[in-house]
Amino acid sequence: MRDDRSAELATVHSEVMACTKCELYKSRKNAVPGEGPIDAKIMFVGEGPGQSEDEQGRPFVGAAGKLLTELMESIGLSRAEVFITNIVKCRPPNNRAPRRSEVEACNPYLIEQIRLIKPRIVCALGTPAITTLLGDEYSATKAHGKPVPKDRLTILPMYHPAAALYDASLKEVLASDFKILKRLLADLAAHNGPVVRAEQEIGRETLEKWV
Ligand code: URA
Ligand code: SF4
Repeated sequence: MRDDRSAELATVHSEVMACTKCELYKSRKNAVPGEGPIDAKIMFVGEGPGQSEDEQGRPFVGAAGKLLTELMESIGLSRAEVFITNIVKCRPPNNRAPRRSEVEACNPYLIEQIRLIKPRIVCALGTPAITTLLGDEYSATKAHGKPVPKDRLTILPMYHPAAALYDASLKEVLASDFKILKRLLADLAAHNGPVVRAEQEIGRETLEKWV
């Protein structure tokens, strides 16, 4: 099963690499499907690749990524154990926000990643990721740090680390929201144990209802 899921995820990622479903493919150097283990318990979803990510084909490798890595490490997580991706897999030119049509075109890839990886917690970084996962009535300002249960997942809205690079008070908010993530993980370990993950099955229809 695990091998099947790995193979399917690899297929999704090769589709992303060749994708021309929205205009963003025209200006990308590299598509950035995301990276991390197939059985990651936690997934981080950002807005879209920036310049460094576009150049390297890997998510969160620039300044915001450095802060994200530090925040993870502050609660005892390593990058190697989480899955990191974005709502759009190709860089919007000049770092503009992705358009709704682009997010919609790209969304099936994110749905497939969530379906295959079956994370227990999905951290939505910044308002575009938060609205994509939870709906337009949510925003980072209103919803950060408040876990939202969705079927067998918990979505945790957070500020985007790039926002915290320019605003020290947001960095503190983000750091305290990571403590909430740490608590959620402890709850998971206490109540579910790691075994439940392997058994959970998330149907595509259920996901499409809320993603
Ligand atoms: N910002 C994002 O939203 N995603 C990345 O991968 C890098 C920076
Ligand atoms: Fe395809 Fe997504 Fe890239 Fe658009 S952003 S070209 S939908 S992979």
